[in-house]
Amino acid sequence: MVKHPPPLMKCNMNQLLKFIIILFLSKASYSMSVQKNHLNCVAANGHLSVKGNSLINQSGDNIQLKGVSSFWLNWHGEFSNASSIKSLKDNWGISIFRAAMGVEEEFGYLENPLEMVKKVEEIIQICIKENIYIIVDYHAHAANQNIKEAKKFFSYISKKYGTYPNIIYEVWNEPLKISWEDEIRPYMIELIKTIRANDKDNIILLGTPYWCQRVDEAYKNPIDEKNIMYTAHFYTGTHKEKLRNNLDELWKAGCPIFISEFGVSIYDGGTLDKNVYLEEADLWIDWMKKRKISWLTWSLCDKNESSALLNPGATIYGNWNEDELSKAGKYIKNKINNN
Ligand code: MG
Repeated sequence: MVKHPPPLMKCNMNQLLKFIIILFLSKASYSMSVQKNHLNCVAANGHLSVKGNSLINQSGDNIQLKGVSSFWLNWHGEFSNASSIKSLKDNWGISIFRAAMGVEEEFGYLENPLEMVKKVEEIIQICIKENIYIIVDYHAHAANQNIKEAKKFFSYISKKYGTYPNIIYEVWNEPLKISWEDEIRPYMIELIKTIRANDKDNIILLGTPYWCQRVDEAYKNPIDEKNIMYTAHFYTGTHKEKLRNNLDELWKAGCPIFISEFGVSIYDGGTLDKNVYLEEADLWIDWMKKRKISWLTWSLCDKNESSALLNPGATIYGNWNEDELSKAGKYIKNKINNN
């Protein structure tokens, strides 16, 4: 039964004062949390650029973006919708979302270009409306084998959206165990040219050899172009101090690093081993925080694997209750909000 509060007229002065103080405090804490969620929004930071090893906002301040990656859009695109992304912004505090468009796999861009482009554009428009950054991720492993298709895709996206400060291009998610010099670098140079024909300034993220663990190989012969960053990916059950130390040396030497994907499982997303590795994740998140290195976590879906942020059967529409969040989901929500 709902208990009605006594009418104000019957309160004594002490009660009235208490009421006013509580009202003031609750309003103040509400506006503080909203302000916190919007600290890294696009309206506050505008066009981003790269200075040395750092991501810089329009005022020249070094900023760290934190957010969530979609699962492969060709398989679980339904989880990336207006309501779920708004909820991630309002309740988790994300300042960036990643649209991971599968390319070579079934239902991906090569097989299904119209559907995939439509889905990516839907997400871009949601992120523009929500005032957050959006990574347009060409989620491919052998992108250089279909370079014509990649150029067509990024030419279209950069022409249509290149004036929006929200857009960040990720032109090749994870190159495999192949040569930076002979296979990856020439592709990156071509794609940078394609995008820069339409968009002179937005950030372009470059994948690095061996599923983005060998940034060192790429940085031996970096590309001379402004506003580019090198991506490193890691999974905390597999990749630990050794990789972190290697990246730290590169970062100290001036390499701009962006973590466009990491998970709290082992390397496969948490299917062979369904544990989460949160102590190691704490070390990584602390390392990124101290260096203001931006990060996004894999992934927004309810698949039965331990990197998935949602438990099987969770709603696709956001505002998830505690039972719908996986161990990874609860952990990451807290880390975005409070760290
Ligand atoms: Mg631009």
